[in-house]
Amino acid sequence: MNVLVINCGSSSLKYQLINTDTEEVMAKGLCERIGIDGVLTYQPKGGEKEKTEAAMLTHNEAIQLVLDALVNPKNGVIKDLGEIDAVGHRIVHGGEKFTKSVILDDEVIKTIEECNDLAPLHNPANLIGVRTCQKLMPGVPMVGVFDTAFHQTMPAKAYTYGLPYEYYEKYKVRRYGFHGTSHNFVSHRLAEILGKPYDSLKMIICHLGNGASISAIKDGKCQDTSMGLTPLEGLVMGTRSGDIDPSIMEFVANKEGLDMAGMMNVLNKKSGVLGISGISSDFRDLEEAADGGNERAKLAMEVFAYRVAKYIGSYVAALNGVDAIAFTAGIGENAPTIRKMVLSYLGYLGIKLNEEENGKRGEELTISTPDSKVTVMVIPTNEELAIARETLALVKANA
Ligand code: AMP
Repeated sequence: MNVLVINCGSSSLKYQLINTDTEEVMAKGLCERIGIDGVLTYQPKGGEKEKTEAAMLTHNEAIQLVLDALVNPKNGVIKDLGEIDAVGHRIVHGGEKFTKSVILDDEVIKTIEECNDLAPLHNPANLIGVRTCQKLMPGVPMVGVFDTAFHQTMPAKAYTYGLPYEYYEKYKVRRYGFHGTSHNFVSHRLAEILGKPYDSLKMIICHLGNGASISAIKDGKCQDTSMGLTPLEGLVMGTRSGDIDPSIMEFVANKEGLDMAGMMNVLNKKSGVLGISGISSDFRDLEEAADGGNERAKLAMEVFAYRVAKYIGSYVAALNGVDAIAFTAGIGENAPTIRKMVLSYLGYLGIKLNEEENGKRGEELTISTPDSKVTVMVIPTNEELAIARETLALVKANA
């Protein structure tokens, strides 16, 4: 089966066409600057990456350009759109209503819309992608895969905030967690590599990318995760603050003359390692600057790693132990220095780092030594493949 995976944002759209029989990516790419001018990136399997400026004032035009590229006689990978058997859509927020992926029909879409105020920047854009695909590919089954669904197994003690309970009852203010597709994919792969039943393991998954989150898994279920009502909570991220004293908002807003929107902009876009270093949100830039003696770049990396280590420690307590830890996403997969810094706090768990393995990049690695009490791995995440697999399973089940 060929599954088109769509991750539709407000001004950009990522896509991959995946053959689920071989799990090969037939073509992939990106639409950028939708509604402004438009740039289409398209790369067929084994072929060159092509970047074309192409007007895309609407998502409709953007998705049409993607479909045209896929069937283009020159370097397209399918003859006609009939070869797309299903579309898998990434949906950011499923609230409490979606605990797993679903076939998208009118009723389901209406229910997703009810979650829109929990993710006002993401969900409406995701749904534009769904509606546009429905229009351009009528009759092709569409599946929604939620970032939040994997974390819906958390117990109330993990998702309830120390706030008046009525905010939960009235507005559903609670911890939801994000990156669920990745935590799910990586934790299953971890259990598979260890050759143990998924529900027999205590696992901690560190998804460290520009956005970063950690999850704690036991009895085959997510028990806790670091992101909250929104993806702002938890770790110090590329540009997001993660956990802070909430009173800082009022204090800084008064000093800087900012309103709530201005303050949220600071916490989402100007904080994290970018805010601390004043240099960049990208760890490649930070490592280079730190190597060159920049103290704030060094501090940003230390704050980042220390926060990750503190979360791992708290999740070891939450799980009453840990069998295996996995690092994934841009930083988790590619930054051995950060992994080493994080693990340097965890010797008390009997974790021993294999320096040589940790020095390798971008592949599945066991970076703990054979006599380490906890297995530590690097497992590349693949959210698109996870979405394609979910889509295949649901379409088959409903055939
Ligand atoms: P993601 O959000 O998972 O795509 O991760 C993106 C982030 O990964 C970038 O902003 C970098 O901070 C980090 N990253 C990617 N490649 C490297 C690398 N080779 N070394 C260090 N950090 C990297």
